[in-house]
Amino acid sequence: MMLNKKPLPDPYTHAVCNRFAAYRPQPVYYFLLIALIAISCLPGYTQPLRRCGAQQQDSLLKARNPAYARARAHLQELLSQPTAGNRKKAAQAEVTLIIPVVVHVIHNTPSGEMGGSENANITDRQIFSQLDVLNEDYQRKANTNGFNTHPAGANVNIEFRLANLDPQGRRSTGITRTYSTKTSYATYEVDKLANLAYWPSDQYLNIWVTRITGEFIGYAQFPDASNEPGLAEYNGLEKTDGVVIDFQNFGREGTASRGPYNLGRTTTHEVGHWLGLLHTWGDEDCGNDYCPDTPPAFGPNETLTCDQTTSRCSGVSTRNMIENYLDYSPDRCMNIFTQDQKDRIRRVLELSPRRKKLIESVGELLPEREALEVTVEKNPAFELLELQVLLKGAQPIHIEVADAMGKVVFEKNIASTRSGEFPIDITSLRQGMYFVRVRTPTESQVKRVLVL
Ligand SMILES: [Zn+2]
Repeated sequence: MMLNKKPLPDPYTHAVCNRFAAYRPQPVYYFLLIALIAISCLPGYTQPLRRCGAQQQDSLLKARNPAYARARAHLQELLSQPTAGNRKKAAQAEVTLIIPVVVHVIHNTPSGEMGGSENANITDRQIFSQLDVLNEDYQRKANTNGFNTHPAGANVNIEFRLANLDPQGRRSTGITRTYSTKTSYATYEVDKLANLAYWPSDQYLNIWVTRITGEFIGYAQFPDASNEPGLAEYNGLEKTDGVVIDFQNFGREGTASRGPYNLGRTTTHEVGHWLGLLHTWGDEDCGNDYCPDTPPAFGPNETLTCDQTTSRCSGVSTRNMIENYLDYSPDRCMNIFTQDQKDRIRRVLELSPRRKKLIESVGELLPEREALEVTVEKNPAFELLELQVLLKGAQPIHIEVADAMGKVVFEKNIASTRSGEFPIDITSLRQGMYFVRVRTPTESQVKRVLVL
């Protein structure tokens, strides 16, 4: 079933449209609507952006694959059953879960050059900024947009980490780059993206960054759990099981400047779907998102402001939770996952076999250290620096590589991480001596490394 929701207009050219959308239709507006439709037919008209194509994608996949539709429904049945051993589950919820991420950049730049305003081959730095946003939002970090004092606000306690091993067990930065002669991909062409670049979706969260044809700026595949005899899940769609984001809305710098979706929260929203969350309005008028602590909502918040809006559902007027990452609000308004959303995510990670396997595949974490401990060496087989950082608990870290003259040649901020390995791609570096500095809020270490 396709959604019958109002499209979100381009904020710069059609702000009036948006204000219009905030009101109930009255006769005077029908004239304006007809005028707007006429304007949209004029040359130079920019197609309106739409926040999310996940539901449309889900409907399409279900229509094509009845077994997938049954597996999706079965997961919801499992999620609706009361949890056994609540106390144990609550304790488990306090464990930080680590999700290895691979970002597949699919671009149309023959030279392979990275960066630039119209270039889908975005920089590493822009990708790092997206990982920072995910970690801020899913860990409710203090002093960031992801933190607020709303009583329902929850720390989902998931750390997203660019994978440091590829499926063959080789060192990797967790970023792949693939040139394609095709300039953009429609939402029904996710299999084409997956044919270009894909890592097993039961070990990695695949994020494809490309130019999306049409109005949607992102979409995701929902988790499932099959109840077919002998099957744990539906295995026809594992290759497309991930998230697709337009390069103009990925991260919070570089090309991530389109509309009010410029702070990386399209990915936060789509990863929410990938983890099983539904829109706050349940994708129908006053629908159910199975999270009782998100207030009933008539539909999405599609204004350009963070102003209060209300819904009237079942005769009761309620304030819309426009701050919720699963609404359609502008990025700057969003700062909350609720406790029930967190619980749903954590249960999905137990009940959906592919997600469960992914969490388990992370393996043992590197040990904690009371004081910062940094080691770095050149990988003899690949153009990578092997950087290992051991630290106390989870902390923000800053990594910097400078040449012998002190010029910074690589820089990376990580919003929050535990002890881990952070390989650095040095393909573009010349031979010579380099200094790798790692900083936490209270400590700093510099190591010297020779690149031959
Ligand atoms: Zn969505």
